[in-house]
Amino acid sequence: MEDMIKVVKFGGSSLASAGQFSKVGKIIRAEESRRYVIPSAPGKRNAKDTKVTDMLYQCYALAEAEESFTIALRKIRERYDSIINGLHLKLSLNKEFEEIAENFKNKAGADYAASRGEYLNGIIMANYLGYEFIDAAEVIRFDINGEFDAEKTNEILAARLQSCERAVIPGFYGAKEDGKVITFSRGGSDITGSIVAKAVQADIYENWTDVSGFLIADPRIIENPRGIKVITYRELRELSYMGATVLHEDAVFPVRKAGIPINIRNTNAPEEEGTLIVESTCRMPDYTITGIAGKKGFVAVNIDKDMMNSEVGFGRKVLEAFEKYGISFEHLPSGIDTMTVFVHQEEFEGKEQQVLSAIHRLAQPDSIELESDIALIAVVGRGMRSTRGTAGRIFSALAHANVNVKMIDQGSSELNIIIGVKSCDFETAIRAIYDIFVETQIIIK
Ligand code: ASP
Repeated sequence: MEDMIKVVKFGGSSLASAGQFSKVGKIIRAEESRRYVIPSAPGKRNAKDTKVTDMLYQCYALAEAEESFTIALRKIRERYDSIINGLHLKLSLNKEFEEIAENFKNKAGADYAASRGEYLNGIIMANYLGYEFIDAAEVIRFDINGEFDAEKTNEILAARLQSCERAVIPGFYGAKEDGKVITFSRGGSDITGSIVAKAVQADIYENWTDVSGFLIADPRIIENPRGIKVITYRELRELSYMGATVLHEDAVFPVRKAGIPINIRNTNAPEEEGTLIVESTCRMPDYTITGIAGKKGFVAVNIDKDMMNSEVGFGRKVLEAFEKYGISFEHLPSGIDTMTVFVHQEEFEGKEQQVLSAIHRLAQPDSIELESDIALIAVVGRGMRSTRGTAGRIFSALAHANVNVKMIDQGSSELNIIIGVKSCDFETAIRAIYDIFVETQIIIK
C-alpha cells in the first residue's frame, strides 16, 4: 500500500554486528512504508558476548568510583567501529566519544551512560540508511519525578515527525525538560517503538527480534513448538505473566490504546510472518488454545475453619496477614470450610512463621497446612469460550500422563484455565496439554 506507515524496532541481537545491520538494512529498504526506525544498542554476537548496554553500565561504574575507564570505553568504541567499518561507512564517532568521556568524568548518571548504547547505534543506523537522526532526548519526555510523560511526549513527537518523512529515533531513553537523560527499564526500546507508533498513527508496529514471534509453549520443554500467528493483548498478558517474554510489558499500552497491532518478526528469518498482536480478532487460534505457559515455585497455604463460609470478613482477615508482610497472592481457590492462598515460595519463605501466626491471630482458623513446590500452568486461549470440552481435554490428558491436579481456577472470562501441579510434574503436564491440543488434536465428544 502506498501511504502506509510502519514503525520498525530492531532489538540488540538484530544490530549486534555489521552483518546483522545489513540484514536490517535489507528489511527496511524492502518496503517504502518502513519510515520510522527504532534501534536498540548492539547486543550479543554469541552466547559468551556482552551487550553494549552492560558494558556501558560497567564502564560508568568505574567512572563513578573515580577509577580509570579508558580501556573499558575503548572496548565499547571497538564494537561500534567494527560495525562502521564492516558497513564501509564514512562516519567517525570521535566527537561523540570525547563528549561521552567528558560526561562520564562529570558523573552524568548511570541512565545517561546506558542510553549511549542506543544513541550511538542510532547515529550509525541513520547514516547507513540515509534517514534523519532524531535524538530521543529531544522527543521522549520524562516529568520532574522521572516518570514517563505520555501526553507531553505524544505532543512533541507528533509535531516533530509530521515534518519528517523518515527518521531514526534511538530506543530506551528520553529526557526531562532540563535535558537530564532518563532510561526506561531494561528492554525498554520496545516501549519507545510503541510510543513512536502511536505518535505517527502507524498502521503497524513491527518489532524485529531473533525469534519468529511467540511459541505455543516453551521450547525448553517442547521440542520445536508451533508458533502463534495471532494473539490478543489480553491473551498475551496472561501468557507473559506466566513467563513467556519476548516483548517488554509496558510496550503494549501506547499502541493498544491507539488500536495499532504489533507484529513480532525475526530479523534472521524475515520470510516468516511472526506473531501479530491485536486488540481483538475474529481469527480463531489453530488449536483452540493460543498458548501454554507456567512457573514453578509456589506454596499453597491451606486454611481450614468450620463454618468459614458464613463468617463475614474471614477472607479479608486472612489476606490482611499476607498484606502485613508485603506478600502478594496469586490465586485464591476456596471451598466451604477451606480457603487456599497461593503465594511465591521465594517471597514467602523468609516470613512464613510471622504470616502463619498473623493468620491465627486475625482469623482464628482451625488449622493451617502448607504445601510447597507447586507449579502453576496457564492454558490460555480466546477460542476456549466457544469450544465445549476444553477443560475436559486438559484434565483427561493430565490423568493419562499420571499428573495429579492440585488446583483448578478458570476465570469467568473463559480466557484461561490455571492448573496447579507438583513442580516435579510441571514438564510432563505441559507436554500432555500441548500434545492433546496441538499434536494429536483429539477432541472429546
Ligand atoms: N539496550 C537496552 C537493554 O539492554 C534496551 C533494549 O535493548 O531494549 O536493556
